Amino acid sequence: MTAEADPATVLVIEDDPSLNAVLAATLQAAGYRPVKAGTAAEGLRWFAHYAPDIVLLDLGLPDRDGLSVIREIRSKSAIPIVILSARGSEAVKVEALDLGADDYVQKPFGVDELLARLRAGLRHGVQARGSLPVVETGDLKLDMEHRTVAKAGVPLKLSPKEYDLLCELALSLGRVVPHRDLLRAVWGSERAEIQYLRVYMGQLRQKLGAELILSEPGVGYRLASIGPQL
Ligand code: CA
Repeated sequence: MTAEADPATVLVIEDDPSLNAVLAATLQAAGYRPVKAGTAAEGLRWFAHYAPDIVLLDLGLPDRDGLSVIREIRSKSAIPIVILSARGSEAVKVEALDLGADDYVQKPFGVDELLARLRAGLRHGVQARGSLPVVETGDLKLDMEHRTVAKAGVPLKLSPKEYDLLCELALSLGRVVPHRDLLRAVWGSERAEIQYLRVYMGQLRQKLGAELILSEPGVGYRLASIGPQL
């Protein structure tokens, strides 16, 4: 496993060209690699071509029912699918989830909400694929599949919030995760008090070791990437 992950590829299947353009710009600014598709056929073609990490799917597409797109992707892959759903279509949302979609955001949605769902979707995708269930840095071992944390082989007990924060940091091992992203991912809102973050990070630092949890003042936190000790 490398410390610097490639940017995740996000396939956006959405026939509204202005929304699709806004989404692509937003995703790019947030560090993702967006791939745009305006029809189901194009979406499935780019799905095969780019092997994306996650799919954002509008259900109202001009050429095919979005639900059939879910079915087709699910017949080939377990990658996370987040639905962009219109208001007032509860039954369709339920059907989409039953067919194997992972989550939905309701239009009109805010950028913050969309990015939070994407991060959650990618985290679940990573767990489902099992490609990154275990992160090791220094003497710390985090097993996301089994939800265990150990330091120098000794199991650690973390509170749920501490654990979630550690996972957020571990998925960006070696990179700074902005305060607002941590607040959004763990408290569901970036308006949550930054003071909470300081308190929980202080606790994590005590449990894990100050050398692992690094503060970047005014920016965010970083889980230090420390190679195996010889
Ligand atoms: Ca549409």
